[in-house]
Amino acid sequence: MRSTISDVIVIGAGAAGLMAAGTAAGRGLSVTVLEKTDHTARKLGITGKGRCNLTNFCSLREAVSNIPGNGKFMYSALSDFPPQKVMELFESLGVPLKVERGKRVFPVSDRAADVVDALRRFAQDSGAELVRSRAVGIITDEGRASGVSTDRGDYYARSVILATGGLSYPVTGSDGDGYRMASAVGHRIVKPRASLVPLESTDDYCGRMAGFSPRNVSLRVVDSGGKRVFEDFGEMLFTHFGVSGPLVLSASAHMRDFDNNSYTMYIDLKPALDRQALDRRILRDFEKYKNRDFENALQDLAGRSMIPVLVELSGIPGDTKVNSVTREQRLGLVELFKAFPVHVKCPRPVEEAIVTSGGVDVKEVDPRTMESKLLPGLYFAGEVLDVDGYTGGFNLQIAWSTGHRAGMSVGKESE
Ligand SMILES: Cc1cc2nc3c(=O)[nH]c(=O)nc-3n(C[C@H](O)[C@H](O)[C@H](O)COP(=O)(O)OP(=O)(O)OC[C@H]3O[C@@H](n4cnc5c(N)ncnc54)[C@H](O)[C@@H]3O)c2cc1C
Repeated sequence: MRSTISDVIVIGAGAAGLMAAGTAAGRGLSVTVLEKTDHTARKLGITGKGRCNLTNFCSLREAVSNIPGNGKFMYSALSDFPPQKVMELFESLGVPLKVERGKRVFPVSDRAADVVDALRRFAQDSGAELVRSRAVGIITDEGRASGVSTDRGDYYARSVILATGGLSYPVTGSDGDGYRMASAVGHRIVKPRASLVPLESTDDYCGRMAGFSPRNVSLRVVDSGGKRVFEDFGEMLFTHFGVSGPLVLSASAHMRDFDNNSYTMYIDLKPALDRQALDRRILRDFEKYKNRDFENALQDLAGRSMIPVLVELSGIPGDTKVNSVTREQRLGLVELFKAFPVHVKCPRPVEEAIVTSGGVDVKEVDPRTMESKLLPGLYFAGEVLDVDGYTGGFNLQIAWSTGHRAGMSVGKESE
């Protein structure tokens, strides 16, 4: 058992914690980072399919509008440490960057590990000490945070930064400890729920197409009131439980009220063709395969596993000779290609989500400093806060900006 005294203790060596630690240590403060796993920034290492989409090269206003979960809370932190400054920092740490479609920023090497290494060096070269230890509670003294109790003893400090992440991908270390510690000192935790997450469907035909991954489709999501909540173009995947893939994950962040709403997805399987052009195309195929049954005439238009589902939903018996399919039936088929329905049941569990929405209630946190309004000396950074963004690098930008803000704000009393 040991007990150490430093200016700042950071709980969690993830993206936000290491950014906070490097920033605070760079100001000359003594910083101890507690990390409960054997790894630092393990989740960062798997971001962007191992390529790490570390931010988005956009304006402040665009960044805020891509943070549906409490974007306004982020104004101050984002203007202080915007994407451009994040990029400058990583380039200065020897990670050249490139901007891709949708202003997504990646390392030129396409290696998330390079971002992890650079961030770890940033924290350690600035003087932060990394300690393998699991924090279990915030120690308070005379109404202030004064340390952290851990599985290896108590650590004391003037300030504590809680950067333990959310509930997603618990194998990377973020398994809700932060919520328990924050709640124990009086913070309200907004119910954590999944965002950027695969979706379960009530339609059993999704499972029959499991593994089929249509590319270049357009996806529209409509809520129970008929309001369009999402529309975009890209790639998706059918799974045994429903749907996944980049387009679906993005869509899920817009379905924010499963308690009071239900959502239906409409997939346009042929977005490059309008209804008339698609009808002409189907007619051409029907002419080409005029002696076949309907179920054997769709091979040029749809993936193999999808054909039996299209036949079923079209209501046209599969053994109908193509030349006897009526115009009305054909137009129904056109509609099916242009608006293939998937009824959403619910999101997959938060553990499978890319990010956790919910967390420490931002009403109880000062947006200019990230300090708790309830317990002076306690600060928050990253996904533990009730802030979440869409895909495109916005979630890591939240981690960088809040981590930087907390690192700049801690220990002012010691200067
Ligand atoms: C598969 C996947 C891909 C993603 N891709 C992208 C992407 O390309 N772009 C993007 O912007 N975002 C992406 N994200 C989201 C992004 O990774 C997170 O939003 C970000 O990592 C949050 O950073 P954080 O530091 O707040 O939390 P985390 O990265 O989760 O770090 C928290 C750290 O705290 C430690 N910890 C927890 N409890 C304790 C405790 N009690 N004591 C000590 N240590 C503790 C954990 O072990 C962990 O190291 C992705 C997420 C996933 C799961």
